Amino acid sequence: EDGPEPGYLTSLNTEQRDAVATLDGPLLVLAGAGTGKTRVLTTRLAYLLETKSGAPEYLHPQQILTVTFTNRAAREMQERVAATLGRPVEGWWLGTFHSLAARQLRRHAELVGLKSNFTILDTDDQVRLLKQIMDAEQIDVKKWPAKQLMGIIQRWKDKGLTPDRATEGMEFANGRAQQLYRIYQQRLTVLNAADFGDLLLHCLTIFQKHPEVLRQYQQSFRYILVDEYQDTNVAQYLWLRAMAMVHRNICCVGDDDQAIYSWRGAEVGNILRFETDFPGAHVVKLEQNYRSTPHILAAASQLIAHNSGRLGKELWTEIDTGEKVQVKGVWDGESEARLVGEDIETLQTRGIGASQMAILVRAGFQTREFEERLITLGVPYRVVGGARFYERQEVRDALAYIRLIAQPDDSLAFERIVNVPKRGVGKVALQTLHQYSRDQSISLPMATRELIGTEEIKPRLRKTLADFMGDFDRWRALLAEKSHVEVLEIVLDESGYTDMWRTSKEIDAPGRLENLKELVSAIGEFENLTTFLEHVSLVMENDQSDEREKVTIMTLHAAKGLEFDYVFLPGWEEGVFPHQRAMDESGVKGLEEERRLAYVGITRARKRATVSYAANRRIYNQWQSALPSRFVDELPVDHIDRLSDTGLSQGKGNVSPGAWGSDDWMKPPSWANDGDNNGGYKSQKSTFSDRKFASSGWQDRVRKNVIDVKADGEAVFTSRGGSSKYKVGDTVRHRKFGPGTVRSVDGNKLEIHFDEVGTKKVVDSFILPG
Ligand code: ATP
Ligand code: MG
Repeated sequence: EDGPEPGYLTSLNTEQRDAVATLDGPLLVLAGAGTGKTRVLTTRLAYLLETKSGAPEYLHPQQILTVTFTNRAAREMQERVAATLGRPVEGWWLGTFHSLAARQLRRHAELVGLKSNFTILDTDDQVRLLKQIMDAEQIDVKKWPAKQLMGIIQRWKDKGLTPDRATEGMEFANGRAQQLYRIYQQRLTVLNAADFGDLLLHCLTIFQKHPEVLRQYQQSFRYILVDEYQDTNVAQYLWLRAMAMVHRNICCVGDDDQAIYSWRGAEVGNILRFETDFPGAHVVKLEQNYRSTPHILAAASQLIAHNSGRLGKELWTEIDTGEKVQVKGVWDGESEARLVGEDIETLQTRGIGASQMAILVRAGFQTREFEERLITLGVPYRVVGGARFYERQEVRDALAYIRLIAQPDDSLAFERIVNVPKRGVGKVALQTLHQYSRDQSISLPMATRELIGTEEIKPRLRKTLADFMGDFDRWRALLAEKSHVEVLEIVLDESGYTDMWRTSKEIDAPGRLENLKELVSAIGEFENLTTFLEHVSLVMENDQSDEREKVTIMTLHAAKGLEFDYVFLPGWEEGVFPHQRAMDESGVKGLEEERRLAYVGITRARKRATVSYAANRRIYNQWQSALPSRFVDELPVDHIDRLSDTGLSQGKGNVSPGAWGSDDWMKPPSWANDGDNNGGYKSQKSTFSDRKFASSGWQDRVRKNVIDVKADGEAVFTSRGGSSKYKVGDTVRHRKFGPGTVRSVDGNKLEIHFDEVGTKKVVDSFILPG
């Protein structure tokens, strides 16, 4: 090539430039965090298009395939390349594995028996379909949950295994998993549908059975680029390898220390295979880090050094100043959130934008306390990669239970949970309730109370609904005796709601259970259910503005590849991080993956990383003392500042956390074991005014509203005092029971002798007009 090299190359270091400019042949860039791997890919794209578009190569954007880990990363890459080249680039294959494979599959769908407009099923659809199949095959879905089968099939697909080749998972349904997999695939074809795993698997099948199609792509894709290569699974690797075999211009960048998706089938082994599958591959190591200060780098490097079997990399930086990693032990979760909030405010007063700050948590439930704190402070935030805490499905379900206790006429809450968990209250029954509530202008719960005293609803369901309403009456009454926190625990327990998730085989079920626990903890911070519900509605109202400057709250998993000036890493406690489940399920491997997550977390920070841990956590309604994460101890003392939080002793009454470095702060205060979980700690808040709440009117309303449910669940109808337009002796026609004669009238409730079904109690709403 003639002419001077483009300007964007001059800012690169020698190794980076080597990686950008080695356009031909297989290339593996193996390097630690912040060394410019992603930047190399982006620059390489620009360089490719600039140097090869013209004669003699005439490279067209369509001939480049680039894989990113998220859609957002793809958008960013698109923008950066356009900015570098000073013109937009179109038509290339840039996106996630899923989006690229979907595009390919739509072109050749007919080769695997699909039409090009096939639907992509979400997990709910998948489970429903699997259930149908299992029912038809007479497999007990109680014993063998469909969700578990879905997981097994997903793992097979991650490994690129079609039903013919699937072998593991034999214990499921007495060895029938493979057969069910086959039937499932057949059904999907009939339905013209594919699940996520199919996108790649079908492409692989097409490549195998139709070499001419594969050949076409092998020739077409002259350049292949892959970011976050360490987290590819086998199917993805096979797909890439197949297409790269002719031109062999495949460039993968990754970091074995950042492999954090093995639980989703990713295999770090793909890095090791690369050099075997592509002999003569050029391997570039990048060692200069451009992101973080030396202290941050040193802390991250020494932490990850505790893992075994690493490929091993050195990192250095030219940056020679910077703060040490801050390590703060705090009294409890609330202090932790307050501390992070204070830091964020201080940074803001120094003119630093909220978008330069991130709070990275291990598990979703942890976002709650920070969300609340930032709302209190009026700091805009966004939760990336998930719903905000109070918008999550299980939290909203639980809130509906609480609302229905605090507000017995809350129709929306009633409708949300009357059949969650499943109680056999179907569409038809709900329609009946709705119609009656509209007709009488009363709430759904009230309509229910009235109709269960009649025969408008089938006997079995009547009993169910009477039990349901009776439960709520009982729970409300409990508020007079027990704290609202205890009542909520009882409610979630007795309603079967917690069990619903406990027995769920959905992969996010454990996370949902954690969120429920967290919700119970949250309620403990409020005086009673009403103040809590008020708080929640304020929280939900907040935010949603389109301000660009927002603090980011996200999980460590979602933070991969990103960077922020200021990073907060809370909850570094044994059991939380490293997460108990990871260690229980995968032992040392699990622990090492957790450590890689910690490495990912620290290395997101440009200027400052703040690690924190609390000595006490409220788990459900219990305070538990927590031990600092072993990762805290693995941080090199020379590169961290252990901070004493003097603000802690304020507002804590006689509890003084003492200085950092001493263990005083971990000693439980006197109230911790006194059996009164609400007492003491938040004495300024918890004033036990549940009783006040209990007498604030709901009982009166219930009384007025009609109902009495006898101990055996039989509902006894009491009139609201309205009067019916029917009178004794009228002949009428009922929508369900047909013609009959009115025997007695009590308000809008009628006893009718029907010609066909005998005497029944009904309400006049369901008498047909005319
Ligand atoms: P990760 O492993 O976290 O994905 P990475 O290796 O992909 O990190 P990049 O995100 O590409 O690293 O780069 C980290 C930061 O360093 C970015 O802000 C990038 O712009 C900057 N950077 C990379 N190379 C250089 C360079 N040669 N000169 C200046 N800045 C650079
Ligand atoms: Mg990157």
